[in-house]
Amino acid sequence: MSFDKFGLSEPLLRAVDAKGYTSPSPVQAQAIPAVLTGRDVMAAAQTGTGKTAGFVLPILQLLQDGKRAQANRARVLILTPTRELAAQIGESVETYGRFMSLSSTVVFGGVKINPQMQKLRRGVDILVATPGRLLDLHQQNAIRFNDLEILVLDEADRMLDMGFIHDIRKILAVLPAKRQNLMFSATFADEIKSLTRGILHDPIEVAVDVANAAADTVEQWLYPVDKSRKAALLRELVQINDWQQVLVFTRTKHGANRLTQTLEKAGINAAAIHGNKSQGARTRALAGFKQGKIRVLVATDIAARGLDIVQLPQVVNFDLPNVAEDYVHRIGRTGRAGSTGKAYSLVSADEVKQLNGIEQLIQKHITREYIAGFEPEHEVPASGSLKKSHKAKRAAGKDKGHHHKAHAGEHTSRGRGGEGHNRPARRNRPASKNGNRRPAASSQSGNR
Ligand code: AMP
Repeated sequence: MSFDKFGLSEPLLRAVDAKGYTSPSPVQAQAIPAVLTGRDVMAAAQTGTGKTAGFVLPILQLLQDGKRAQANRARVLILTPTRELAAQIGESVETYGRFMSLSSTVVFGGVKINPQMQKLRRGVDILVATPGRLLDLHQQNAIRFNDLEILVLDEADRMLDMGFIHDIRKILAVLPAKRQNLMFSATFADEIKSLTRGILHDPIEVAVDVANAAADTVEQWLYPVDKSRKAALLRELVQINDWQQVLVFTRTKHGANRLTQTLEKAGINAAAIHGNKSQGARTRALAGFKQGKIRVLVATDIAARGLDIVQLPQVVNFDLPNVAEDYVHRIGRTGRAGSTGKAYSLVSADEVKQLNGIEQLIQKHITREYIAGFEPEHEVPASGSLKKSHKAKRAAGKDKGHHHKAHAGEHTSRGRGGEGHNRPARRNRPASKNGNRRPAASSQSGNR
């Protein structure tokens, strides 16, 4: 399938071509025609699926014929939970709209408001915003929504998680009733559904199988290790595998800072990115990471949400997240838009509950491997058998049948054709299990 068949205008097709996209991603294939109908759309899709182009391209198409924005007005409002995501969407709008004459701007908190007010003075066709700053700007009469044509709520689930519901309701109250609404969310839990009912009218539903998509394109491993030895194991993995760009997730900001310091001490360039960091520090960290100056970017879930780093080869879960869906978001940072990625989770015995939750959600047991020298004193208990819960069924709707092989306690080694093992004795585990996925790992050496 190609982008031609959507009926997008020539400048848009040229921009898509210049980006090097040859065919639409599954979410684009569904979302682009849906948005072009002018109806409301509710899409289940996470970052990494190409969802941004899925709404930006048709929006640009819809806007091109209308009247340009008036002073202090916006025709499209895209709401996102984080500054990083707002900035990235803003970049996408510019990229896809580069051969058109539409205007756009991005506003978020943590930076001066005056330059943002100035930009809004002439009006913008597309405004990308985080909720709090948008409300401030509205209060100061810097933005009015009388001419708003389209509202996009991106990462709606995350906005609710982050406590933006009141801000969203306040914003909705000042929007014109007649508008097109697009809502994107990785999950559609009950809370989101009730929000949806209040906003969307007879929406077209777009569903791209989130958990399954990630589970299929990302190779996942679990390394049982004692909590106290996680930092040392991570250091070892970075050095032995010669990872030059790895995104590491921690549950807490404090944990992110501590880990960053440990890595820095070991001579590995690292930076932390989380909510307590200033916008400048976050932007610098992300830029350094993208340029290859920072090898390890340590992030909390909220900060990492929406980070767009093209073809990130691997991610590491230093801790498992408390919310199983976050695991899917995390591993979705790698293996993006069709390329395969690798996700490694360092799991200690106290995380068995989180592990079970994740495996139920993705309907799969994550392959266990033991790294020589880091075998845990406190073993991570074998996971329970996979039950098809309603949530898991929905998430893994298109299961292609290759997950059912994993049973409780059977953690099949990759490439070992059914050589299942039930929590093998540590000393029995050869270092050569590491196979060829760690180029610098000495498969013959036992003292990794
Ligand atoms: P998103 O989910 O919108 O954050 O997009 C994830 C990544 O996929 C971004 O780096 C996009 O540039 C890239 N991408 C989006 N659409 C396509 C496509 N059709 N083909 C290849 N890459 C794409």
